[in-house]
Amino acid sequence: MTDKKPAEIAREALKLIAERRQQPSPDHFEAAYNEIAGLKTQVPFPEEALRRVVLALPAHDAELARALTVVEAAVGQRNWPGFRNSLHDYVGKVQQLASGQPPTKATMELREQVARLIEHAMPALAADDERFARQVTDILQLLRNPATDVYSAKVALANFNLRLSFVGEEQTAIRSTLLHLLTLVFENISVLGVEDKWLVGQVNALMEAATPPLNLKRLDEVKRKLQDVIAKQAEAKARAIEVQAQVKFMLATFIERLSQMTETTGEFRNEVDDFAKVIEQATTLEEIGPALQTVLNATRTMEQNARQVGSELRHIRERAVQAEEEIVKLQGELDKASVQARLDPLTGALNRRGLDEAFAREVTKARRQGMPLCLAMLDIDNFKVLNDTHGHKAGDIALTHLVAVARTSMRPQDTMARYGGEEFVILLPDTAIDQAVEAMQRLQRELTKRFFLQNNERLLITFSAGVALLDVGETPEDAVKRADHAMYLAKRAGKNRVFAAA
Ligand code: GH3
Ligand code: MG
Ligand code: MG
Repeated sequence: MTDKKPAEIAREALKLIAERRQQPSPDHFEAAYNEIAGLKTQVPFPEEALRRVVLALPAHDAELARALTVVEAAVGQRNWPGFRNSLHDYVGKVQQLASGQPPTKATMELREQVARLIEHAMPALAADDERFARQVTDILQLLRNPATDVYSAKVALANFNLRLSFVGEEQTAIRSTLLHLLTLVFENISVLGVEDKWLVGQVNALMEAATPPLNLKRLDEVKRKLQDVIAKQAEAKARAIEVQAQVKFMLATFIERLSQMTETTGEFRNEVDDFAKVIEQATTLEEIGPALQTVLNATRTMEQNARQVGSELRHIRERAVQAEEEIVKLQGELDKASVQARLDPLTGALNRRGLDEAFAREVTKARRQGMPLCLAMLDIDNFKVLNDTHGHKAGDIALTHLVAVARTSMRPQDTMARYGGEEFVILLPDTAIDQAVEAMQRLQRELTKRFFLQNNERLLITFSAGVALLDVGETPEDAVKRADHAMYLAKRAGKNRVFAAA
């Protein structure tokens, strides 16, 4: 506020307008007057200006025109809040319409990325489903077409997603059915070839390969293993067939010789008969001479033949013995190959396949004889730390060490299998639960006495174990689960201990 008189303020206001080179309009005068008088300027509602602006706004669409009428009405009523709200509505409509406009470069790029995502995912999905393939082509076209508005693209993508979820489910179902079929085929082969141990080994490896969950690394590993086995077996089989063919050929030759020999013998008998007749009818020794020569010749031929047959016979016998030895050796190799399909290559303990078979055998035996069967699940303690501190090789040695020590401390009828990583299962036939716990504790004590060397350092390992007694009617899987849980409790309780399962 100022104490200047109004006339004075009015004069100064005119001077200010002149200084500022403003139009001498009532608005400017009022503003200058208020400024000098220290009064707050009342901002007038700029009705005229706003009306002009409203007139310039686009109204090419019925909705827009309607929204604009509301704005105009608010201006006419000089109503600020009404103006603000109606303008907000109008701008909303403009944006709505603009979304139907050609997409921006960024939008097109995003759509292109989505399109590529779909393209890349295609091979993994049902490329052989024609309807789906068509749908993919359609959506790709739609996404890449700049004329497609966001709304249509959204709807199409939503439909596609729905279809995709069906395709995904179908793929999973197809895969599991295929795996099942494959397993059936393998089982069938093994039933047909029960006599061939090597074939059974091969089939087991295939079954192992086809057990979910599948991942590329595992499939690759099993493929390599299987190729080795197949190659070895094919080679052994070919050699066995070759040896058999040789023996057959020699036998044929021998039989031919035998028949020649009988022929020779027959001829010889004829010669002798003839000679006998010559002798009978001969009146002089000279007459006997040529006939004697013939008989002598015949005798020599027969003797030669007999000698030849004898040496051939010996040769054939030697070859037959050799062939038999070779076949036994091959059989051994084949058996070994089939056993190897059940063994863990690192530790020589049974692998999962081997364990399954051994478990099934032991369960049958235990139930038939009414004897208890226990199983222990072992997990090496702090194995990761051992690996991290002393290297992966030390970890491998530790695994082999555990199996070696277990072999010496367990009974021959106990079966040890590598269940996975650093986990082992031991089957203890004819053993009550308390004895099984004791056996595991004995193995623990043994391990505290027997270190292994790594870089001249003495290393000891400990393990935690859970022991379960197979219940009446319980499946091996369930018993393993119980043992595993007890092992987990042993870990929780501080490791290096043995717990019996509930
Ligand atoms: P915990 O005492 O609780 O059992 O701990 P942990 O470290 O023994 O168990 P964890 O499961 O954390 O680690 C197991 C490690 O075993 C991780 C993995 O790298 C290692 N491992 C699994 N298989 C092998 C193998 O064949 N050789 C080696 N050297 N290490 C293996
Ligand atoms: Mg583990
Ligand atoms: Mg462990």
